[in-house]
Amino acid sequence: MPALLRQLSSLGGCTSPIRLDGHRTEHHLNQDTGEIGRVLGHLESAELPAGHLLVRCNNRRVTRCAACAEIYRRDTFHLITAGLRGGKGTPETVTAHPRVFATFTAPSFGPVHNRITGPAGTVRRCRCGVRHDQEDDALGTPLAPDRYDYESAVLWNAHAGLLWRRFSIYLRREVAKRAGLTQRAFRDYARLSFAKVAEYQKRGAVHFHAVIRIDGPGGGDSPPPAWATVDLLADAYRGGYAQGAGCRAGHRRAGPHLRLR
Ligand SMILES: [Zn+2]
Ligand SMILES: [Zn+2]
Repeated sequence: MPALLRQLSSLGGCTSPIRLDGHRTEHHLNQDTGEIGRVLGHLESAELPAGHLLVRCNNRRVTRCAACAEIYRRDTFHLITAGLRGGKGTPETVTAHPRVFATFTAPSFGPVHNRITGPAGTVRRCRCGVRHDQEDDALGTPLAPDRYDYESAVLWNAHAGLLWRRFSIYLRREVAKRAGLTQRAFRDYARLSFAKVAEYQKRGAVHFHAVIRIDGPGGGDSPPPAWATVDLLADAYRGGYAQGAGCRAGHRRAGPHLRLR
């Protein structure tokens, strides 16, 4: 069945494609008159080798679809590295622009089963006493479900996007303030650029990785003003973070933890 293989190979290894039923007819369109003309092609999903039109599931979770999750991971990597080093439409001169790489992690909603690896790759015991396998379904689930703060976990995911937006607004203000500029004047001198990706942690909480960069007024192509330094950005970041999300400064490794309450 080479036709079926051809259809499946277009899915790039997706293991749970979405099956679509329907039809599509393409007509010639006269660009000058807008007149719809003769039929150019017709697609009937039931007549396809698999009996459906199949599209990639595009799931970001490895447990759902390893192939699609891997594509997402690579795209994420390229997006973030382009924000740091240039490439993919971002000029390489951005390497000279002040920038920070930040991770925004949700606070704890209660202890969960985890798999901590030591320096030599040795797996330490979880608090439950088990050395969990990488594929263990228990990973990320609460140790004490009756005491886990599910409500906050749900609220966190529901509001993560809003928290990020607030943070970015406050960060702009903080940077402008440190440069001695009003928000309006700031636009004539610099622009804050963000490359952000959201991921699910094992415990199901959304977290963000972001590259935050100070560019010139024209974006990545224009040099940032002389006052724009990493120190200023990092300081503004802490200020914007504290105001925007009403939270505490976090430890260095995981970056600040946006707090919900
Ligand atoms: Zn997939
Ligand atoms: Zn455990």
